[in-house]
Amino acid sequence: MKDPTSFVLRPPSPDMNTYPLFSPEYFMNEALKEAQKAYDRDEVPVGAVVVCNRTIIARAHNLTETLNDVTAHAEMQAFTAAAGYLGGKYLDECTLFVTLEPCVMCAGASFWAQLGGIIYGTSDEKRGYSLAGNHLLHPKTQVASGILAEECSLLLKSFFKNKRK
Ligand code: ZN
Repeated sequence: MKDPTSFVLRPPSPDMNTYPLFSPEYFMNEALKEAQKAYDRDEVPVGAVVVCNRTIIARAHNLTETLNDVTAHAEMQAFTAAAGYLGGKYLDECTLFVTLEPCVMCAGASFWAQLGGIIYGTSDEKRGYSLAGNHLLHPKTQVASGILAEECSLLLKSFFKNKRK
């Protein structure tokens, strides 16, 4: 099969698609817009939004290169921003939408935040927290995955393909 990314230098902007308001796809598309911002600044394209009462209260994208900080994953920044917005450290009423399955560090942070839910786009077969088991998450945290998985994955593939050139 022909590599579906072979002709893609840059995937189409997520803005091209519209999704029903407040649907999981709608919020994941917002996370994808954040991932696109990371892509544009030569960061591994992962984006996240935190949703509380159907409102986006935090947006973030990976900034590990820009900030010279290995902890500057999209999720970590989104948690900090969401807690700042709410004025409390617990995010039990919130859902994180993130384009890539969180790593062990971010899963651990979500545990401390007692996060209400995690919805991720594409799986991370090398660094995903689920490789270590779901016990990393808080027992209250509901998980779903596969929302706009193809779009989330394509952005990452495109990034690493360009990197290898
Ligand atoms: Zn992470």
